[in-house]
Amino acid sequence: MGQTWRNWGRSATAHPQRIAAPRDEQQVVDVVTEAARAGQHVRPVGAGHSFTPIAVTDDILVRLDNLNGVHHVDPVTGEVTLGAGTRLANVPALLAPHHLAMENLGDIDRQTIAGAISTGTHGTGLAFTGLAGQVTGLRLVLADGSVADVDATHRPDLFAAARLGLGAFGILTRVRVRCVPEFLLAADEHPEPLGDVLDDFAGRAAAVDHLEFYLFPHTEVALVKQNRRLPVTEPCDPLPRWRAMLDDEVTSNGVFAATCAVGAAVPALVPAINTVAAKAVSTRRYTDRSHSVFTSPRRVRFREMEYGIDLDALPGAIRRIQRLIADRGWRISFPMEIRVAAADDVPLSTAYGRPTAYVAVHRFVADPFARYFLGVQDVLLSCGGRPHWGKLHSLDAARLRPRYPLFDQVTAVRREVDPAGVFSNTYLGRVLGG
Ligand SMILES: Cc1cc2nc3c(=O)[nH]c(=O)nc-3n(C[C@H](O)[C@H](O)[C@H](O)COP(=O)(O)OP(=O)(O)OC[C@H]3O[C@@H](n4cnc5c(N)ncnc54)[C@H](O)[C@@H]3O)c2cc1C
Repeated sequence: MGQTWRNWGRSATAHPQRIAAPRDEQQVVDVVTEAARAGQHVRPVGAGHSFTPIAVTDDILVRLDNLNGVHHVDPVTGEVTLGAGTRLANVPALLAPHHLAMENLGDIDRQTIAGAISTGTHGTGLAFTGLAGQVTGLRLVLADGSVADVDATHRPDLFAAARLGLGAFGILTRVRVRCVPEFLLAADEHPEPLGDVLDDFAGRAAAVDHLEFYLFPHTEVALVKQNRRLPVTEPCDPLPRWRAMLDDEVTSNGVFAATCAVGAAVPALVPAINTVAAKAVSTRRYTDRSHSVFTSPRRVRFREMEYGIDLDALPGAIRRIQRLIADRGWRISFPMEIRVAAADDVPLSTAYGRPTAYVAVHRFVADPFARYFLGVQDVLLSCGGRPHWGKLHSLDAARLRPRYPLFDQVTAVRREVDPAGVFSNTYLGRVLGG
């Protein structure tokens, strides 16, 4: 047994024989070639922020941290080629000299670009796709040790599959992303009655650039966040640093950790704690650089399940989840998070072919999660649900297949490029088939 690897959510552990950290693409080729010759498996890993055992292997885990930074910027199209191990947190500084920005981001920026696209990481906004939708080209090391540059015209089937490919098609070494001119976001965060937000939710989501809301279970208050895109020439009015830190501590970090711990020890207190927490979140309006508004720190460890569902099914789904929690007598301290995304054309995307609403449920790391997640999963599956590929769920290939019109095409590409299963592991066997 070699080293031990654990993910951020402490829901997956691996004891790989070796953790390789290639310094360049040739060393990635060498790792893959030697492993294939020895009949071993190889799993790429990024920042370990997936909640599933997607990266777990007994053989060789490959970290791409050394393959980071900008390779190329196309000033005409705004396409930027990044090393696969580039952390999202480093991208704004890399793009700043070119006055470019990522079009949309999720809640945090700890992930690698390769990990984020490979599992379908998304933010919110009905006119914007998840990160894989922003990808226009990939370079990957295939199971036979060859290096392939793929895009919409070169090996389009492999490009389509590997754009959100779960690390099942090869090891990404470069990712080309369509960026946009740098911009500001005017943030408006405020509490609202839940009923008001659910009435015509789809209309609300279409009326602003980026809409999301948090809902503390056991309350009727939606904590709405809506961000409007502004040209970078507009005046910036960021939150004072102390205010940003204080608010983050109350809602996401230090103080929140303490209230979660109390709730875990005395579940009966959770509804009262949540009511206080929902009231403690005050109205904030500020304008800042896009990445500073999209992302914020998350230091309280949790486990998460998230489903993409039909946009119009969102209000009914929320009401059914609330009834489920009440009927079962569960005490849930962590808020649900509701977001949206545009339809995209990425075969394994949770938003493939349809505008999508996302419902994410979380549990504090010390709380049991299985029954809550399975109960909510049933509700979301009946709303056209597709589970986030980086988050917990219990579906297998047989249950995923009917939810993705191009599932068979994707698995056929996998058989073609990795017939011996060099990149396979137990988790991929479960969700993509043998
Ligand atoms: C606190 C927190 C907040 C989050 N917020 C969001 C959010 O707002 N929106 C959202 O959609 N998700 C969110 N997630 C989920 C997260 O974005 C995804 O799980 C993402 O995969 C994590 O990126 P990573 O670099 O940690 O990848 P890892 O978890 O390290 O890797 C996941 C998989 O990606 C593939 N992969 C990684 N690198 C490569 C490579 N070079 N080549 C091929 N395949 C590769 C492999 O299959 C690997 O096993 C969050 C997770 C956490 C813990």
